[in-house]
Amino acid sequence: MKLAVLSRNPDLYSTRRLVEAAEDANHQALVIDPLRCYMTIASQRPTIHYKGEELHDFDAVIPRIGASITFYGTAVVRQFEMMGVYSINESVAISRSRDKLRSLQLLARRGIGLPVTGFAHSTQYTGDLIQLAGGAPLVIKLLEGTQGIGVVLAETNQAAESVIEAFRGLKENILVQEYIKEAGGADIRCFVIGDKVVAAMKRQGRDGEFRSNLHRGGSASVVKLTPEERSTAVRAARIMGLNVAGVDLLRSNHGPVVMEVNSSPGLEGIETATGKNIAQQIIAFIQKQARPGKTKTRGRG
Ligand code: ADP
Ligand code: MG
Repeated sequence: MKLAVLSRNPDLYSTRRLVEAAEDANHQALVIDPLRCYMTIASQRPTIHYKGEELHDFDAVIPRIGASITFYGTAVVRQFEMMGVYSINESVAISRSRDKLRSLQLLARRGIGLPVTGFAHSTQYTGDLIQLAGGAPLVIKLLEGTQGIGVVLAETNQAAESVIEAFRGLKENILVQEYIKEAGGADIRCFVIGDKVVAAMKRQGRDGEFRSNLHRGGSASVVKLTPEERSTAVRAARIMGLNVAGVDLLRSNHGPVVMEVNSSPGLEGIETATGKNIAQQIIAFIQKQARPGKTKTRGRG
């Protein structure tokens, strides 16, 4: 097969591993920077060009679209879909997963366990919103944050109110969430491929830090999932429409709750923590699934 890894940087661990795994399986893999793709939009024959040449004959694409380029990156994935090329994660699913509110609404509708979450545009009824989310301590999040930046723990209702007003003053969309204290500053990353959790790790925030993000100094270790955690992760990925997903769970008193579903989950942390060859499993999945025109939405939606 001829594969395109859509990534801005060929030197990133995840990008390198995917290329390596593809080549190990005797496929051809090219790293293509989505921001340097340009396209013609026509009903008869949509095309993608890259560095002065038209892209031809790809069997599948692996989107690794960073949060900062979601808009243009998903347009490039959509264009591949319009050309009938199989994308392991479809453009619509990537867009969905990037919007925390939209994701939580979709998951809630299908009965997935979630932390009690409130959101509002106006700060007029902040006090009421805080009560609806169960009162302090509360976690307040920017809608489009990543790597733990823009996630704040407010210990009192007063603090929560100040943080909400400050964020709203910056014209940021926010959500207000029940603080799952019993998670003890740890979360569980479930790496889903197809309908299986192929690896899982526990990430523990450093001392005194409630955010477990590895970028914030957290550390990772292997964890054994309960059957309920396993099925929650697989269902969450399926509801989002993602074939490859990093589903983040918190262990709450009322069972596993989903915090977010990531459409370009990093490979370095999970491969290092578990010693598993995840890149190879992604390539094997594509090998089994990719067919011309198999993309369900064909760029629609
Ligand atoms: P980001 O997208 O920036 O990673 P997250 O929503 O994943 O934002 O939050 C970052 C970290 O903060 C999580 O990994 C988790 O450890 C902690 N956290 C987030 N929400 C909650 C919550 N409701 N209760 C307890 N801890 C939380
Ligand atoms: Mg996170």
